Amino acid sequence: MLEWMTLDDPAPGPNDLVVELHAAGLNYIDTYHRSGLYPMTLPLTPGMEGAGIVVAAGASCRRFSVGDRVAWSTALGSYAELVRVPEDSAVSVPPSVSLELAAAVMLQGMTAHYLVTDTFALGAGHRCLIHAGAGGTGLLLIQMAKHLGAEVFTTVGTVDKAALVRDAGADHVVLYREEDFGISVERIAGSRALDVVYDGVGKSVFDRSLDLLRPRGMMVTFGNASGPAEPVSPLRLMQGGSLFLTRPNLSHYIATRADLERRATDLFTWISDGWLNVRIGARVPLSDAAGAHRLLEGRTTTGKLLLIPRAS
Ligand code: NDP
Repeated sequence: MLEWMTLDDPAPGPNDLVVELHAAGLNYIDTYHRSGLYPMTLPLTPGMEGAGIVVAAGASCRRFSVGDRVAWSTALGSYAELVRVPEDSAVSVPPSVSLELAAAVMLQGMTAHYLVTDTFALGAGHRCLIHAGAGGTGLLLIQMAKHLGAEVFTTVGTVDKAALVRDAGADHVVLYREEDFGISVERIAGSRALDVVYDGVGKSVFDRSLDLLRPRGMMVTFGNASGPAEPVSPLRLMQGGSLFLTRPNLSHYIATRADLERRATDLFTWISDGWLNVRIGARVPLSDAAGAHRLLEGRTTTGKLLLIPRAS
């Protein structure tokens, strides 16, 4: 149940900002919060990500003040016209980047950033597989992987999505609803040839993806769009060639203020430099967040979905 309703305006705690929302980003994690896959205390206002203008600042706030343009990726309650944002979670949005783009890139962009720079540091000569390449995170991952010089294999659900990922720079595209993606990848790359798999799809692709890694390759399972991946025995990793398996989460890669600012600054710079294209696939009224969840879970979307409040 996801309902549009009127609540009292939030008051800032000493370390909080209250922000008038310009746009909220929709992310797959919002559906896990709604469905209970990630258990939450109900009732709750969902949403983690957004951008807007500070309209109130708590007494202990030092970084930001009323009128500042800010964006964030970890403030639960972001599906609201007025959002309470812990000051430590907010970053400044430079004049060269619109608030809409900032709302669109924070969560999926910083995720793609940490996956290719820190979880498995991609470089020239690496071969990676990115599942669901036409999604919000996928399109950003492809561009960053290509920028770093990697060869990119990607899976997508439809022919239209295939065109999008090619435009984003993907080298090899597999329609995984029509063909066995493992066979298609092996046909091009050879047996057990990938350095890393970035998997945000989970259950339906995880197991087969493990077979595609080279000895000492890395399986990065970072999401559950098709359901959570099944448990795997450590012995399977040995038999696959001393594989590495990690299940990362953005919060642990922006745990310090320095990491948060470094990743956000890189994203805003890359957008301003012109090579990172943030595709906004749809803008949905904030009051119809339920409809936006149906679109995302129905696999009909590409790139980023934004929720727009009436006032914007
Ligand atoms: P996307 O925009 O990528 O949407 C999900 C896509 O997954 C769909 O468009 C669809 O693409 C594909 N998919 C495959 N199977 C299914 C299925 N059974 N049901 C629904 N979709 C399916 O979403 P996000 O970019 O927001 O998130 C992508 C993944 O990344 C999610 O799993 C999310 O939880 C994860 N994530 C993890 C983070 C972390 O730090 N761990 C942070 C951010 C995101 P297609 O039709 O092409 O198959």
